[in-house]
Amino acid sequence: MEAHRLSSTKPVQALKPTKKISLEEDTGKASDALPLPLYLTNALFFTLFFSVVYFLLSRWREKIRTSTPLHVVTFSEIIAILSFFASFIYLLGFFGIDFVQSLVFQPSPDVWIAEEEDDEVLLAKEDARKVPCGQALDCSLPPLPPAAPIVTVQKVFDEKPVTVLTEEDEEIIKSVVAGTTPSYSLELKLGDCKRAAAIRREALQRLTGKSLSGLPLDGFDYESILGQCCEMPVGYVQIPVGIAGPLLVNGREYSVPMATTEGCLVASTNRGCKAIHLSGGATSVLLKDGMTRAPCVRFGNAKRAADLKLYLEDPDNFETLSVVFNRSSRFGRLQGIKCAIAGKNLYIRFTCSTGDAMGMNMVSKGVQNVLDFLQTDFPDMDVIGISGNYCSDKKPAAVNWIEGRGKSVVCEATIKGDVVRKVLKTSVESLVELNMLKNLTGSAMAGALGGFNAHASNIVAAIYIATGQDPAQNVESSHCITMMEAVNDGKDLHVSVTMPSIEVGTVGGGTQLASQSACLNLLGVKGASKETPGANSRTLATIVASAVLAGELSLMSAISAGQLVRSHMKYNRSSKDVSKAT
Ligand code: ADP
Repeated sequence: MEAHRLSSTKPVQALKPTKKISLEEDTGKASDALPLPLYLTNALFFTLFFSVVYFLLSRWREKIRTSTPLHVVTFSEIIAILSFFASFIYLLGFFGIDFVQSLVFQPSPDVWIAEEEDDEVLLAKEDARKVPCGQALDCSLPPLPPAAPIVTVQKVFDEKPVTVLTEEDEEIIKSVVAGTTPSYSLELKLGDCKRAAAIRREALQRLTGKSLSGLPLDGFDYESILGQCCEMPVGYVQIPVGIAGPLLVNGREYSVPMATTEGCLVASTNRGCKAIHLSGGATSVLLKDGMTRAPCVRFGNAKRAADLKLYLEDPDNFETLSVVFNRSSRFGRLQGIKCAIAGKNLYIRFTCSTGDAMGMNMVSKGVQNVLDFLQTDFPDMDVIGISGNYCSDKKPAAVNWIEGRGKSVVCEATIKGDVVRKVLKTSVESLVELNMLKNLTGSAMAGALGGFNAHASNIVAAIYIATGQDPAQNVESSHCITMMEAVNDGKDLHVSVTMPSIEVGTVGGGTQLASQSACLNLLGVKGASKETPGANSRTLATIVASAVLAGELSLMSAISAGQLVRSHMKYNRSSKDVSKAT
């Protein structure tokens, strides 16, 4: 904690190099040139100096006693005088010149950083001494902040190789700018994704005349996104990840990663987690798990469309259709088919389980198998599109709200009355009233579709970005109805969120990228579940719903206590003068 406080007080310095090698290395000292180990040389010259001083003083006394002139010197006295000067110069060099050098030479900026670090350690020591220890028997200093790992991380950051463009690259940049080399072909042409991104980026800057200097290029594995996550990359956007938690759900604690640039959001969710934890935790139940895809097919008349509908919805045909559907994947298993007719057009909504994948690719492959199979019995069927929007993917649609898509989850908690008062700073009564008038009545007045909540999409979007989900699916994944009710004779609050279409996966897409996979790992749901395929993605869905529960509790409390504007002024409005930011 202390380490964080201290390092956060000097953010700019923390980005500078933090070399510990200081004055000696940069400016050089007289003592650096010694041929022997320092302690041996010191011992030798100290002994020599004091021996010759003793010898010369005794000779001087002898000469005074015998009235011998001082300038009459013997050979041994000459040697002693020379030794005296030699050892004097050495000792002056060692103790004197270094001292003078340190006064005369200005240390390099790196040295200041090193010295300031030391100051921080001293400050930490001083702060540690300020820790009140009257009540405790052990008044020893608490451990110092772990400065070493911070330096190590900083060094790795500073020493990151910076991409340098060569003359050969320059030729390719020119040909991209001239239009002779297509920008999209660079990865294939060069066989080096990082170099391709660097060249594309430079060509883009020249073509647009706009600088991309704030968008980092280095420090990202461009191979990992090739053919899977992003085409024609020129860099990457950095989004901070905050942690809310521990979130106690189904008896387990989770630290929930949230990638966001909205001040307040993580702090607020964290407060909701605290209220849930203090009240014994949340319970999150998965009700349904099935991804959907609905192609649109057209016939010459409505009768033929109706024939196909009856065929597809006949339970006797389900087994045949599922064998055909399931051929495409070990994990995709057909669960059901639901059809909607619009005249001659038929919309066929296939639902299937998808293991730990979010499942869009999987379900699409299965659907394609079935469409190919149906052509034999329905040769007059014209496939208009593999997706006919009755799925419905990435659009607000009642079909998802009513039927569900992906994972359908209900999550609840009973928040104790004193937790509502002390942590959420409001009352059960006003929360229940606000929920009824805002999330239920207000949303009904607005004609909401699945939007019977305060800000489910805030939490969903932040977790989706952190864990590599498809952020566009936030649209239907945020469908949520928040319910609040006074229980236990009005003392406590029962709160629940019901979310019918949470679309998440722990394999495929962005989940395999390093940062996103680290966040999944933090939640203990990284990759495919070895024991039960699908268990990881289902757990992730229950965590998303519980985090939404925490977010709902906290925001609703802030609104009911009239805190919303105040807390946003605190967390969203930095006191920094942004006009001076570089
Ligand atoms: P999506 O269907 O969500 O678009 P992908 O098709 O990109 O996902 O990724 C799913 C891939 O991961 C499939 O090839 C599938 O065979 C493989 N896979 C491996 N283990 C699992 C698992 N436990 N659940 C689902 N898919 C898995």
